[in-house]
Amino acid sequence: MTFTLLLASHNAGKRAELSRMFAGVAITLRAPKDYGMEQQSIAETGTTFAENARLKAVASARDAGIPALADDSGLCVSALAGAPGVHTARFGGIGLTDDERRQLLLSRLAALGRETERSAEFCCAVCVADPSGAILGESEGRCSGHIALSDQTGPYGFGYDPLFIPAGFGQSFAQLPDAVKDRISHRGRAILAIIPQLETLRIVHESERPL
Ligand code: IMP
Repeated sequence: MTFTLLLASHNAGKRAELSRMFAGVAITLRAPKDYGMEQQSIAETGTTFAENARLKAVASARDAGIPALADDSGLCVSALAGAPGVHTARFGGIGLTDDERRQLLLSRLAALGRETERSAEFCCAVCVADPSGAILGESEGRCSGHIALSDQTGPYGFGYDPLFIPAGFGQSFAQLPDAVKDRISHRGRAILAIIPQLETLRIVHESERPL
Protein backbone atom coordinates (compact mmCIF):
# COMPACT_ATOMS: atom_id res chain seq x y z
CA MET A 1 0.00 0.00 0.00
CA THR A 2 1.41 3.38 -0.92
CA PHE A 3 1.39 6.06 1.72
CA THR A 4 0.07 9.47 0.62
CA LEU A 5 1.63 12.59 2.09
CA LEU A 6 0.62 16.18 1.52
CA LEU A 7 3.62 18.46 0.89
CA ALA A 8 2.16 21.40 2.76
CA SER A 9 4.02 24.21 1.04
CA HIS A 10 3.09 26.68 -1.69
CA ASN A 11 6.74 27.69 -2.16
CA ALA A 12 7.77 26.32 -5.56
CA GLY A 13 11.47 26.20 -4.61
CA LYS A 14 10.85 24.21 -1.46
CA ARG A 15 8.39 21.93 -3.23
CA ALA A 16 10.91 21.13 -5.97
CA GLU A 17 13.59 20.25 -3.42
CA LEU A 18 11.29 18.16 -1.24
CA SER A 19 9.99 16.28 -4.29
CA ARG A 20 13.58 15.45 -5.33
CA MET A 21 14.40 14.30 -1.81
CA PHE A 22 11.45 11.89 -1.79
CA ALA A 23 12.10 10.58 -5.31
CA GLY A 24 12.38 6.80 -5.16
CA VAL A 25 10.51 6.59 -1.87
CA ALA A 26 7.22 4.70 -1.93
CA ILE A 27 5.20 7.72 -0.91
CA THR A 28 2.70 9.49 -3.15
CA LEU A 29 3.21 13.22 -2.70
CA ARG A 30 0.24 15.51 -3.02
CA ALA A 31 0.04 19.27 -3.47
CA PRO A 32 -2.20 21.63 -1.47
CA LYS A 33 -4.10 22.46 -4.66
CA ASP A 34 -5.11 18.77 -4.98
CA TYR A 35 -7.19 19.38 -1.85
CA GLY A 36 -8.51 22.79 -2.87
CA MET A 37 -6.13 24.49 -0.45
CA GLU A 38 -5.20 27.91 -1.76
CA GLN A 39 -2.22 30.12 -0.85
CA GLN A 40 -1.01 29.55 2.70
CA SER A 41 -3.24 31.17 5.31
CA ILE A 42 -1.74 29.49 8.37
CA ALA A 43 -0.38 32.09 10.77
CA GLU A 44 3.28 31.38 11.58
CA THR A 45 3.02 32.57 15.17
CA GLY A 46 5.73 30.32 16.62
CA THR A 47 9.01 31.67 17.92
CA THR A 48 11.03 28.73 16.57
CA PHE A 49 11.24 26.94 13.22
CA ALA A 50 10.06 23.74 14.93
CA GLU A 51 6.94 25.41 16.36
CA ASN A 52 6.01 26.87 12.98
CA ALA A 53 6.60 23.58 11.15
CA ARG A 54 4.30 21.91 13.68
CA LEU A 55 1.59 24.58 13.28
CA LYS A 56 1.67 24.22 9.50
CA ALA A 57 1.75 20.39 9.48
CA VAL A 58 -1.13 20.01 11.95
CA ALA A 59 -3.37 22.62 10.28
CA SER A 60 -2.65 21.27 6.78
CA ALA A 61 -3.26 17.62 7.75
CA ARG A 62 -6.57 18.58 9.37
CA ASP A 63 -7.66 20.59 6.32
CA ALA A 64 -6.66 17.94 3.78
CA GLY A 65 -7.69 14.89 5.83
CA ILE A 66 -4.37 13.12 5.10
CA PRO A 67 -0.93 13.24 6.79
CA ALA A 68 1.00 16.38 5.90
CA LEU A 69 4.67 17.33 5.88
CA ALA A 70 5.51 20.98 6.56
CA ASP A 71 8.86 22.73 6.40
CA ASP A 72 9.66 25.96 8.19
CA SER A 73 13.00 27.40 7.29
CA GLY A 74 15.04 30.54 7.15
CA LEU A 75 18.37 32.26 7.30
CA CYS A 76 20.03 33.22 10.61
CA VAL A 77 22.78 35.82 10.23
CA SER A 78 25.23 36.10 13.14
CA ALA A 79 25.93 39.83 12.77
CA LEU A 80 22.16 40.47 12.85
CA ALA A 81 21.70 38.49 16.08
CA GLY A 82 20.13 35.58 14.20
CA ALA A 83 17.76 37.70 12.07
CA PRO A 84 15.83 37.31 9.87
CA GLY A 85 15.37 33.81 11.39
CA VAL A 86 11.72 32.75 11.62
CA HIS A 87 10.79 35.99 9.82
CA THR A 88 12.91 35.20 6.74
CA ALA A 89 9.92 34.82 4.39
CA ARG A 90 8.56 38.21 5.50
CA PHE A 91 11.87 40.06 5.95
CA GLY A 92 11.29 43.74 5.08
CA GLY A 93 7.50 43.31 4.81
CA ILE A 94 5.11 41.08 2.92
CA GLY A 95 5.17 42.99 -0.38
CA LEU A 96 8.87 42.50 -1.23
CA THR A 97 10.27 40.24 -3.94
CA ASP A 98 13.08 37.76 -3.21
CA ASP A 99 15.45 40.15 -5.01
CA GLU A 100 14.44 43.04 -2.78
CA ARG A 101 14.82 40.95 0.38
CA ARG A 102 18.35 39.95 -0.62
CA GLN A 103 19.26 43.59 -1.30
CA LEU A 104 17.79 44.54 2.07
CA LEU A 105 19.93 41.91 3.78
CA LEU A 106 23.03 43.22 2.01
CA SER A 107 22.24 46.78 3.02
CA ARG A 108 21.71 45.78 6.67
CA LEU A 109 25.13 44.12 6.69
CA ALA A 110 26.77 47.01 4.82
CA ALA A 111 25.40 49.40 7.45
CA LEU A 112 27.41 47.50 10.06
CA GLY A 113 30.68 48.24 8.25
CA ARG A 114 33.02 46.56 5.82
CA GLU A 115 34.72 44.42 8.43
CA THR A 116 31.48 42.88 9.66
CA GLU A 117 31.64 39.15 10.12
CA ARG A 118 29.29 37.51 7.56
CA SER A 119 28.70 34.03 8.95
CA ALA A 120 25.18 32.68 8.64
CA GLU A 121 23.20 29.49 8.93
CA PHE A 122 20.25 28.15 6.98
CA CYS A 123 17.86 26.31 9.31
CA CYS A 124 15.00 23.98 8.51
CA ALA A 125 12.48 22.23 10.74
CA VAL A 126 10.27 19.54 9.28
CA CYS A 127 7.15 18.08 10.85
CA VAL A 128 4.77 15.32 9.72
CA ALA A 129 1.34 15.31 11.37
CA ASP A 130 -1.80 13.30 10.80
CA PRO A 131 -5.36 14.68 10.54
CA SER A 132 -6.00 14.01 14.25
CA GLY A 133 -3.18 16.41 15.09
CA ALA A 134 -0.79 13.63 16.16
CA ILE A 135 2.86 14.29 15.34
CA LEU A 136 4.28 11.40 13.28
CA GLY A 137 7.79 12.79 12.95
CA GLU A 138 9.90 15.88 13.51
CA SER A 139 13.45 16.83 12.61
CA GLU A 140 15.77 19.76 12.04
CA GLY A 141 18.69 20.43 9.75
CA ARG A 142 21.23 23.23 9.56
CA CYS A 143 23.78 24.36 7.02
CA SER A 144 26.45 26.88 7.96
CA GLY A 145 28.17 29.27 5.62
CA HIS A 146 28.46 32.98 4.95
CA ILE A 147 26.68 35.82 3.16
CA ALA A 148 28.38 36.92 -0.07
CA LEU A 149 29.16 40.61 -0.69
CA SER A 150 26.70 40.66 -3.60
CA ASP A 151 24.32 38.32 -5.42
CA GLN A 152 26.19 35.30 -6.81
CA THR A 153 23.53 34.31 -9.30
CA GLY A 154 23.27 30.97 -11.05
CA PRO A 155 20.76 28.58 -12.55
CA TYR A 156 19.79 26.78 -9.34
CA GLY A 157 17.89 27.34 -6.14
CA PHE A 158 15.50 30.05 -4.99
CA GLY A 159 15.03 32.77 -2.39
CA TYR A 160 18.27 33.75 -0.64
CA ASP A 161 20.39 31.13 -2.45
CA PRO A 162 22.39 33.67 -4.54
CA LEU A 163 23.73 35.17 -1.30
CA PHE A 164 24.55 32.00 0.62
CA ILE A 165 27.98 30.38 0.29
CA PRO A 166 27.97 27.08 2.19
CA ALA A 167 31.04 26.34 4.33
CA GLY A 168 33.74 24.56 2.33
CA PHE A 169 32.49 25.84 -1.04
CA GLY A 170 33.43 28.84 -3.16
CA GLN A 171 30.06 29.16 -4.87
CA SER A 172 26.57 30.10 -3.76
CA PHE A 173 23.65 27.68 -3.50
CA ALA A 174 22.36 29.30 -6.72
CA GLN A 175 25.55 28.14 -8.49
CA LEU A 176 25.92 24.67 -6.99
CA PRO A 177 24.06 21.82 -8.71
CA ASP A 178 20.84 20.60 -7.10
CA ALA A 179 22.44 17.32 -6.04
CA VAL A 180 25.13 19.17 -4.08
CA LYS A 181 22.65 21.45 -2.33
CA ASP A 182 20.36 18.50 -1.52
CA ARG A 183 23.27 16.64 0.12
CA ILE A 184 24.48 19.45 2.37
CA SER A 185 21.50 21.74 2.81
CA HIS A 186 19.44 22.39 5.93
CA ARG A 187 16.44 20.85 4.14
CA GLY A 188 18.34 17.80 2.89
CA ARG A 189 19.61 17.13 6.42
CA ALA A 190 16.16 17.57 7.97
CA ILE A 191 14.59 15.17 5.46
CA LEU A 192 17.36 12.62 5.96
CA ALA A 193 16.69 12.75 9.71
CA ILE A 194 12.93 12.35 9.44
CA ILE A 195 13.02 9.27 7.19
CA PRO A 196 13.90 6.83 10.02
CA GLN A 197 10.93 8.15 11.99
CA LEU A 198 8.63 7.48 9.03
CA GLU A 199 10.24 4.03 8.67
CA THR A 200 9.31 3.25 12.27
CA LEU A 201 5.70 3.91 11.34
CA ARG A 202 6.11 1.63 8.31
CA ILE A 203 5.45 4.67 6.13
CA VAL A 204 8.80 4.21 4.40
CA HIS A 205 10.89 1.05 4.22
CA GLU A 206 14.62 0.88 4.92
CA SER A 207 15.44 0.04 1.31
CA GLU A 208 13.69 3.15 0.04
CA ARG A 209 15.75 5.81 1.79
CA PRO A 210 16.18 8.97 -0.32
CA LEU A 211 19.39 10.97 -0.83
P1 IMP B 1 8.80 29.79 5.47
O1 IMP B 1 9.44 28.48 5.86
O2 IMP B 1 7.55 29.61 4.71
O3 IMP B 1 8.67 30.71 6.66
O4 IMP B 1 9.76 30.51 4.43
C1 IMP B 1 11.14 30.45 4.57
C2 IMP B 1 11.82 31.45 3.66
O5 IMP B 1 13.22 31.27 3.89
C3 IMP B 1 11.59 31.20 2.19
O6 IMP B 1 10.58 31.98 1.67
C4 IMP B 1 12.93 31.56 1.56
O7 IMP B 1 12.95 32.94 1.28
C5 IMP B 1 13.92 31.30 2.67
N1 IMP B 1 14.55 29.99 2.48
C6 IMP B 1 14.32 28.84 3.16
N2 IMP B 1 15.06 27.84 2.68
C7 IMP B 1 15.77 28.37 1.67
C8 IMP B 1 16.70 27.81 0.76
O8 IMP B 1 17.02 26.62 0.77
N3 IMP B 1 17.21 28.66 -0.13
C9 IMP B 1 16.89 30.00 -0.19
N4 IMP B 1 16.02 30.56 0.61
C10 IMP B 1 15.44 29.74 1.54
